Parts: sequence; structure tokens; C-alpha cells
Amino acid sequence: MKRFIVSGRRALSARASPLPHRPFATAAQPDESLASLLPKMPPFDYSPPPYTGPSAAEVLQKRQRYLSPAIFHFFKNPLNLVDGKMQYLFDENGRRYLDAFGGIATVCCGHCHPEVVEAIVNQTKRLQHSTVLYLNHTVADFAEALASKMPGDLKVVYFTNSGTEANELALLMARLYTGCHDVISIRNGYHGNAAATMNATAQSNYKFNVVQAGIHHSLNPDQYRGLFGSDGPKYARDVDEIITYGTTGCVAAFIAEAIQGVGGIMELAPGYLPAVYSSIRRAGGLCIADEVQSGFGRTGSHFWGFEAHGVVPDIVTMAKGIGNGIPLGAVVTTPDIAKVLTNRTYFNTFGGNPVCTAGGLAVLKVLEKEKLQQNALTVGSYLKERLVSLMEKHEIIGDVRGRGLMLGVELVTDRKAKTPAKVEIAHLMEQMKEMGVLIGKGGFFGNVFRITPPLCFTKDDADFLVDVMDYNMSKL
Ligand code: PMP
Repeated sequence: MKRFIVSGRRALSARASPLPHRPFATAAQPDESLASLLPKMPPFDYSPPPYTGPSAAEVLQKRQRYLSPAIFHFFKNPLNLVDGKMQYLFDENGRRYLDAFGGIATVCCGHCHPEVVEAIVNQTKRLQHSTVLYLNHTVADFAEALASKMPGDLKVVYFTNSGTEANELALLMARLYTGCHDVISIRNGYHGNAAATMNATAQSNYKFNVVQAGIHHSLNPDQYRGLFGSDGPKYARDVDEIITYGTTGCVAAFIAEAIQGVGGIMELAPGYLPAVYSSIRRAGGLCIADEVQSGFGRTGSHFWGFEAHGVVPDIVTMAKGIGNGIPLGAVVTTPDIAKVLTNRTYFNTFGGNPVCTAGGLAVLKVLEKEKLQQNALTVGSYLKERLVSLMEKHEIIGDVRGRGLMLGVELVTDRKAKTPAKVEIAHLMEQMKEMGVLIGKGGFFGNVFRITPPLCFTKDDADFLVDVMDYNMSKL
């Protein structure tokens, strides 16, 4: 059997291999010696309790009948996931999968992290109530802890139940504070699924054509496909033009992710955010950083994604990993801006309730105790290096990007033309799942692997992921 060296490691080459492609580690694996050559999932000392609930087919049938017809699922035969532990998930048969995607959607420090679970359960046993009306120290403690993670005068927290709500509130505050209406967001960004946020979400894939006036979409500072390569200030000129020619000159806000998540792990070109922030502030507007995906140490080098760009926003929004999967979001801003909501009654019944904030506080403690930001940097850099070296072997990889444990691999059928490899990526995703790796996908054309695992991901997990990707790309 011929083997290739990948990034200093010996990796299996399936192209040179006579192996038939079979699912990894399934019960029906007739030839043990051949199976032993396939990439191996790192050992993990945990077995979930037996599952006695309905089968995948039964759940799917019920879901199709009673849940929104807009809801979608990954994989032709969707997985029925019934247990989770740290960076692993288990299906109804107890089969283990490496979760290389759920880190953003739900968990930042690991599925069912015992300390987070304990904090949530203890608070639930003691008291669950609304956030407003009465005092409860848990809510205030988490707000204080969150504010301590912020630069400058970003010290006041409004809690919400989701990222959408956080961004809606941020836009409302900016409009009230500035007295202006116009908002600028970037094409290919994602900010939520309610009225203003859906319109700020410029990607037509995600928005319905229900027009909200006054939302403008600027050129994406896309370092892979963009007109100006990595020259951030050049893309920023488009924002100047929008301010001059597209608005009355009065701008409420600019909103952006430092690394576009849904948009395919697109790190904004360097120099873009500082230039845009200056223009927006000159026009009297506020700068909003959407940290729903890139916050909480995920990028490794910094706690917040915007910090890598050397800017300090006026408003920061967050959700998802903030509570390790519990419904929670937040808007953090300055005391001055925060005051704009005091001239009317504003409240959010459950945003930041005691149970959710107990979970949020536990997440911050775990991040610190287990040095998960440092882990994101170490393991993320290693994983990125291995993915970059895969490019030498597989023409289909057009780009590897991102930082920390927020990485993207863009697949193209022609590197020069950058033709999106849409069919291939769907096939690879299925094959990788068969071998025990769950990976995400996104980007404008849906041809980018999104790798955003829980932050407890290890180097062995990274090796397994890359070996499985390598093996299946070799078989294309
Ligand atoms: N902002 C960003 C950057 C997101 O990725 C998302 C969700 N994908 C949202 C906002 C909206 O969050 P939610 O789904 O919790 O409303």
C-alpha cells in the first residue's frame, strides 16, 4: 500500500488504495485488516446510557408532519442524535461521532459540560423566574463577568434569548441614539431572521424579499473572491459611497461579523474595519460587532473577533456559545448608548433569566479554568496547518481560511475559475459522516466546509478529521 506524507504525518492514500469504500467502524465490517488501515477516531472513555426512544425514521416522520416545512436537515438519512459528551455526539445506536461543527450552534466548552449542567440544574431547582421585576444575583453576576471581558466603556448589558433578538435590539438602539434610520451591512453577512436583521442579512439565500427601507449592503471584503484581494481599505470605499450617495448622510449603524460564519468563514480583509469604523463615526453612526459566532475565545488569538482588527465597537452582540446551548443572547454597550431605552418601557421577559445566566456564568468560568481560548489557538493553528498542506494534494481545495477553531475550507472544481464544488462537498459531507466526522457547510455557494467544533477539540481530533477528509477526497 502506497502512503503519502501529509504535514509530517503518515496518512492513508485512498487513491492508491485497493480498499473498497465502506463506512468506518460499522458493525458490518467484514475485513478487519482493511478496516484497521482507515483513520481511527481517538479513544474516549464514555458510553452513553442505552436509548429506548423512537427510531430515526419515526422521529423524521413526526418532524415532517408537525414541524415547519422550512426546517432542513443535514444528510440524506438524517442522524437521530440522542447523547452528547464534550466534542462527541452519539446516535440512537450508541455510535460515536466527532462533532466538528456544533461548537458554534450550541456548545462552546463541550456538550453537556458537567460544570455548566450543574450550574443550570442547581439554579433550576432553586428558582426560575423572569429577568425583570425582582432582584436575583445570578443575573447581575453574569452581567458583571461579561462586562469585565469587554474593552473600553462597553460596560452595560441587555440580555436577550437569541442572536436575532440581540441584533434587532442593537439596531433599534443605534436608530434611537443617532436619530437616523439607515443601516449598512456587508453582503454575505448573516445577522438573524427577524425584520431588521433579516434585511441586514444581505445573502439572498437567507432573506425573504420583504423590503425594509434604509438597509444598504456594502461590498464584501472577501480575500478569496473579492475584487481587491486583501486590501481592506479599498473595499471600505464602497461604504463611503453608500454614505454619500445612498443615504441622506445620516447613518444609524454599521453591523458586521469579524469572521462571517454562515457566509463561509470569511475573515474580513485587514484594514477594512478600522477604515469603515472611521467613516461611519464621521457620519454620526454607531459600529456594531456581531460576535454571535466569533466570540468567547473561538478565534484563539483574541476573546472577541473584532479585537484582531484593532477596533473597539460601540455595541457588541452575542449568543449561541454564550450559554453552551441554553437560549441566551446579549447586547453590550456603553452607559450613554444604553440610556436610550429608558424613555419608554423596554423589557425582555426571559432574556437573561436566572437559569440561563447561571449557565452563562459557568461557561465563562470553564473557559478560563480549562484555558479554552489557548486551546483554540493551539489546536486551531495545528488544524489549519494540516488543512493547508492538504491543498498540495487535493486540487479541489481552493482556499483554507479562518483562525482558531473557526476554520473554512472552500471547495472548487477549478482553482483558477473558482467554480464552486457544490455536488462534491455534499458527497464528501455524507462520506465523512459515514466515517464518524460531522462537519458543517456554508458560504454564498454552499461550497465551504465550516469547521467550528467545541473548544475542547484536541490535536488527535484534528488529525482524525483531516485524515478522514483526505481519505474521502482521494476517493473523489
Ligand atoms: N448573527 C450571526 C453571526 C449568526 O451566525 C446568527 C445565527 N446563525 C445570528 C446572528 C442569529 O442568531 P439566532 O439564530 O440565535 O437568532
